[in-house]
Amino acid sequence: MIAENLHKIEQEIQESCALVSRKPQEITMVAVTKSVDSKTANELVELGVSDLAENRVDKLLEKRQSLSQHQQIKWHLIGNLQRRKVKLIINEIDYFHALDSLRLAQEIQKRAEHQIKCFIEVNVSGEESKHGIKPDELHSFINELEGLDKIHVIGLMTMAPYEASQQEVQTIFSTLKKLQESVKEQNLRYAPCTELSMGMSQDFKTAIEEGATFVRIGTALFRKG
Ligand SMILES: *Cc1c(COP(=O)(O)O)cnc(C)c1O
Repeated sequence: MIAENLHKIEQEIQESCALVSRKPQEITMVAVTKSVDSKTANELVELGVSDLAENRVDKLLEKRQSLSQHQQIKWHLIGNLQRRKVKLIINEIDYFHALDSLRLAQEIQKRAEHQIKCFIEVNVSGEESKHGIKPDELHSFINELEGLDKIHVIGLMTMAPYEASQQEVQTIFSTLKKLQESVKEQNLRYAPCTELSMGMSQDFKTAIEEGATFVRIGTALFRKG
């Protein structure tokens, strides 16, 4: 079942790329394994998936431990990170998708032993319940990160509301794309901002059409029938 789901998603990624003349190699599919056990995550790795994500620190550490024979895995932390947990996790991951405050960045700076590839989470939809920097505060936030040499801002991340219409989702993703380009244009050494982490099971096709380079997919990989 997982192999079929994976194959279907890979095909859909190709189709979405073709629609907008992009190359499928530009897209990294990050498999979100938060709803499955290590055994199932292992199946994915055996099928060739090399980017795995969790939204909780304890779950990521647990899976990383059980899958430690697979040296090639890149680990992504996609959820909100509490400052007191930074020291437990920051040297165990390759990518962090939810940087959203200066205090968190400072804690990462203090604890990280290597440069961490970070996405700044932006709350484009304006939903109260969502984490993330407000779009109009993004540039001043990025300026504040200068000098924190453990933080490498490779891109921006957002989530569309679950119940948003196709049109709304498109607007949210294209807004994030414009923000990403405006940061990239500044040619900041510490914030090249070339990447866009957006799109989940229900909206990854739209995200790819709007410029996503990392899509985070959970449910669609593991659903049955
Ligand atoms: C759970 C989660 C996903 C994956 O969502 P699906 O709808 O299961 O594909 C992606 N990003 C974040 C931040 C998540 O928490």
